[in-house]
Amino acid sequence: MKVAVFSLGGCEGCRYSLVEALLSISDLGLELVHEPLLGLHDESYDVAIVEGSVDSREDVEKLLEIRQRARVLVALGTCAVLGGVPGLAEEVAVKCGPRRPLRAAPLSRYVRVDYWVRGCPPPREELLRVLRWISEGSPLKPGESRFPYCREQAASVPGTLLELEAEKCIVCGRCVKVCEEMGVHALGYARRSVSIAVTTPLEVSFDESTCVACGQCVLYCPVGALREVSGLRELLQALRAGLVREAYVEPEALVGIAASLSVPPGKALAALKALGLRRIVVWRPPLPEDALIVPASMAEYLYVKKLYPELLPLTAKPELKLKHGTVLITACLARRLSHSPVVTARDVFRALRKLDVDALPEEAPDEVRLSHELALQKAVGPSQVRNVLESLKARHGVERPVTLYLCPGGCLRGGGQPYPDEAGEEELRRALKAVEQLIKSTTGG
Ligand code: SF4
Ligand code: SF4
Repeated sequence: MKVAVFSLGGCEGCRYSLVEALLSISDLGLELVHEPLLGLHDESYDVAIVEGSVDSREDVEKLLEIRQRARVLVALGTCAVLGGVPGLAEEVAVKCGPRRPLRAAPLSRYVRVDYWVRGCPPPREELLRVLRWISEGSPLKPGESRFPYCREQAASVPGTLLELEAEKCIVCGRCVKVCEEMGVHALGYARRSVSIAVTTPLEVSFDESTCVACGQCVLYCPVGALREVSGLRELLQALRAGLVREAYVEPEALVGIAASLSVPPGKALAALKALGLRRIVVWRPPLPEDALIVPASMAEYLYVKKLYPELLPLTAKPELKLKHGTVLITACLARRLSHSPVVTARDVFRALRKLDVDALPEEAPDEVRLSHELALQKAVGPSQVRNVLESLKARHGVERPVTLYLCPGGCLRGGGQPYPDEAGEEELRRALKAVEQLIKSTTGG
């Protein structure tokens, strides 16, 4: 069977990420004959794989023609299956060419779709599985069990620190994957077909689920459907009322803010003062010393409490004691469970990006107070944390206290840091060096 690939409205990311998989379909007895990315333009095909939503009259015409020519039509990716990001807009602005825009819609609004491959981008295994079905014959025959496009409304998921707004979710599955990698499995899929939704088991709130408030899923949601409950308004009100005058800033949060603003850390400190803060201390919260398991924050404490409850008696409870009138600026979403006001570096960046930070003179911190890290063993990232807790559960291998840092890469990649597209790897590395330098020159160390 001959296979052709087409794009309608969307970023074309599905196609780019699946080129390699498409090159391997000859193993399934299929022949790729149309994929302009690879210079293939044959217009005679049996199977059409279409990515992107329908967002112009030209797209409708092209899709109807594809449907007429193809025996089997596969909708590829969230935009083709559900409308995706363009489907969230009232009308897509089509900038290139004389196109006549329409409100973006999934393929099934206009034509019969035989198979759906969801994801943003979809996993390659999923696409290959569907193509294998098509080539070998599957339990799901084209045209069988078709449902009208009528999406059941999913409920939003509330929580103290994060919430999932169902209306915005494009079911790309990134948060589900990240949460799985964290070893928590608080998010998953519910319902079927076009009514599929991402939610918690039994659609309970994040607080009632196994969620440990690590915040990693928030960093990877491409459309802001999953977001933290912001503490920014509370902080700005307290600053205006003169109730908060001093900030404790974790070094990692300062790195995140400087990297996302693309300025030296001294300018990031000046920008914080421009918000109304009088004194800034670069500070790292001391770790509790009196237990075998030392969680770096409430996220690790909740991880033990919810997933390894038998180890809770061996675990210290992280406490934050800050004086009245201070705010903590943190790289860790879960710290917001321990004190108020606490704001994340991501939230602070949102307030600072409106300022002309470049025009501000660089400032040094008023004080640096970094607790000496205890000579503890460290477990960094979900797999090391799991290994340590499994060893402790089996009662072997861990005799000395161990500090748990759940986020992959530690606090520098904490769930309260700016989004990865605001501060990439390279910017973070550069800002980390600059912050270390600033700390040295302030402490004379
Ligand atoms: S905050 Fe962490 S634990 Fe909670 S749902 Fe997101 S990834 Fe899972
Ligand atoms: S909440 Fe965001 S990351 Fe999760 S599936 Fe929906 S759009 Fe994707």
